[in-house]
Amino acid sequence: MRFRLLTLLAALVLGLGFGPVQAQDATPSYSIVPHSAPTSKIEVAQLPAAGVSNFDPVKATNAYLAQIPAKDRARTDAYFEGGYVLQVVDLVYALVVAGLLLWLKISSRMRSWAESITSRRWLQVPIYAVQYIVITTVVTLPLSIHEGFFREHHYGLSNQTFGQWFGEFGISFLIEIIAFSLVLTLIYAAARKVQRKWWMWGAGITVAFMVVAIAIAPVFIEPLSNKYTPLPESATRNAILSLARSQEIPAKDVYLVDASRQSKRVSANVAGLFGTTRIALNDNLMNRCTPSEVLQVLGHEMGHYVMNHVGTSITWLGLIICLGFWFVDWGYHRLTRIFGAKWDVRGIDDPAGLPLILAVFSVFMFLATPLTNTMTRTQEIQADLFGLNLVRQPDAEAKVDLMLGEYRKMDPSPLEEFVFFDHPSGKNRILMAMRWKAEHLNDPDIMAGPISPQ
Ligand SMILES: [Zn+2]
Repeated sequence: MRFRLLTLLAALVLGLGFGPVQAQDATPSYSIVPHSAPTSKIEVAQLPAAGVSNFDPVKATNAYLAQIPAKDRARTDAYFEGGYVLQVVDLVYALVVAGLLLWLKISSRMRSWAESITSRRWLQVPIYAVQYIVITTVVTLPLSIHEGFFREHHYGLSNQTFGQWFGEFGISFLIEIIAFSLVLTLIYAAARKVQRKWWMWGAGITVAFMVVAIAIAPVFIEPLSNKYTPLPESATRNAILSLARSQEIPAKDVYLVDASRQSKRVSANVAGLFGTTRIALNDNLMNRCTPSEVLQVLGHEMGHYVMNHVGTSITWLGLIICLGFWFVDWGYHRLTRIFGAKWDVRGIDDPAGLPLILAVFSVFMFLATPLTNTMTRTQEIQADLFGLNLVRQPDAEAKVDLMLGEYRKMDPSPLEEFVFFDHPSGKNRILMAMRWKAEHLNDPDIMAGPISPQ
């Protein structure tokens, strides 16, 4: 049973991007024509330009989707749907591992070993935690290698050799050992002190840790696997920085990251908190997209930045984590009352009960997946609209959405999207861009812009 919090945090902090544009004169044309009193008529629309009067957002969306070769679409669907299965497989596997650690009394022996080394109870916790992380990492290694390396290669999504992949895996393993030991030492210290109310302290410590982790990630953690550099001199750079200045985003907060070390995926993200917040666009985006597309993606990311989505997510996730800890408290006491003696697990402040705590917490977070996904998906919709309003390149948006379709199913059922999607599906993003376009057809920049397929 691995603590999935770090993964969850990573997902939270990585907002995928889209987007396009050059600054253009986007002033709509209004003419106020006074008539004889008492009525006045306000003309707000020009005649539609030839060729766009029959613009149909749904048709345009379908025409964009039709540009994806059937073979590519089948491959992406298989990749993404396989991900649903893996979420269940990971959970079941983790529950089985937790069950074995408890029933075979491996966990209680790990605790007793820690007690034999030192009588200081606070120190017994990290000794237990390190054993726990090592054992669970080793037994889940085949799954990790399959999911992280072979599967990504099978679908043509990874650029890494096994050595490179394993090196990064090792780095996150070390970070996990340090972070996990630290947080657990604090939570168990609180549990020993306050007993019944431990879950409130546990949730508080976890959320505080999450805040610190998000704040230091751009400075201390992300540079361990990638290089972040200032944007290279170019016309696109000037357009990006101009757009950033217009949104009160300091230029020093926009970076280029060498994500091509890991994959061909096009993306950008907003990370950090307090003084470390920054936008990073990846080099795949820079290399594979037109300047309009790059700008539309950046418009989306600027939306996350300006609307403080990191802060909002922490707040909501914090509430969900509180509920999760309460659920763990409830489950832990019930289960140890029945099985505690068989497992040789004592009260809540006994580290030997950790596999049970994490098992119950994982079940809770798994059940909360549609909720947490809907939370982030809603922010992604907001960022899409922000980007469209700012950059005004709906067709560039649609083209980037097609590229994101290389690793995310384009046209899922509504239920699938609700449960599994932390971003809107490609189809819905294109549809949103085309609907936006349909309502701006008379604006000179849109009229002069690219014609959507129909
Ligand atoms: Zn996003």
